[in-house]
Amino acid sequence: MGKVIAVANQKGGVGKTTSSVNLSAGLAHFNKKILLVDIDPQGNATSGVGVNKADVSHCIYDVLVDDIETSKVCVHTEIPNLDIIPATIQLAGAEIELVSTISREVRLKKAIDNIRDQYDFIIIDCPPSLGLLTINALTASDTVLIPVQCEYYALEGLSQLLNTIRLVQKHLNKELMIEGVLLTMLDARTNLGLQVIDEVKKYFQDKVYQTVIPRNVRLGEAPSHGQPIITYDSKSRGAEVYLDLAKEVIADG
Ligand code: ADP
Ligand code: MG
Repeated sequence: MGKVIAVANQKGGVGKTTSSVNLSAGLAHFNKKILLVDIDPQGNATSGVGVNKADVSHCIYDVLVDDIETSKVCVHTEIPNLDIIPATIQLAGAEIELVSTISREVRLKKAIDNIRDQYDFIIIDCPPSLGLLTINALTASDTVLIPVQCEYYALEGLSQLLNTIRLVQKHLNKELMIEGVLLTMLDARTNLGLQVIDEVKKYFQDKVYQTVIPRNVRLGEAPSHGQPIITYDSKSRGAEVYLDLAKEVIADG
């Protein structure tokens, strides 16, 4: 049975998609069978692994809203061991359409449970909100990985996320745990970044990954080439750190 990990933080631009894509590719590199599930209407994880949204005939919307079979929407990527359930802008309507449907919070869980045994890890890239899509992801997941950007106010807003996690634990998914907190976009030239690391470690203690993701130009470039960093530039610092993260995630089991 594959482990399901939601990558969530309601703040935009903290590195959710970058981490979802590159952790997935890193795990696939170590011969794990990976399904990346894109539930952000922006579809950045989808294009980030080289899937052209214009060519997508079925997306996660069809699974969530129209009950289409999960296996029909899984797409092989060009990266060995990595499949994706893509998202397109069609998904933007789902948040509202789901409100009036039966079992609206558990639709993704049901869909993923059908194909879970075919993968080692299922990584869900969440949108920047705590709405029904993110609730679906947290309900479907064993754990949640929280990317935190190394900037001033890094911890601000995290209490809302932690509160949502608590509510999901109470009402929808008792087993949900925090996988880890990932510090992202560290600018090693400033003291601020190091202060933020201290602050986040004080709060989350051993939940913080040893691997810290630095700012890396190649990481920012890779998405526009539709490639994870280890394909785009395997020698870059960005590739190195996401492989380190993948090792930590595998070691956690
Ligand atoms: P989110 O999914 O949380 O909104 P993204 O992963 O899309 O965040 O990252 C926001 C932007 O920052 C993107 O343009 C991405 O390419 C860039 N980015 C993310 N992580 C890094 C990094 N470590 N170094 C440089 N650029 C990064
Ligand atoms: Mg994103």
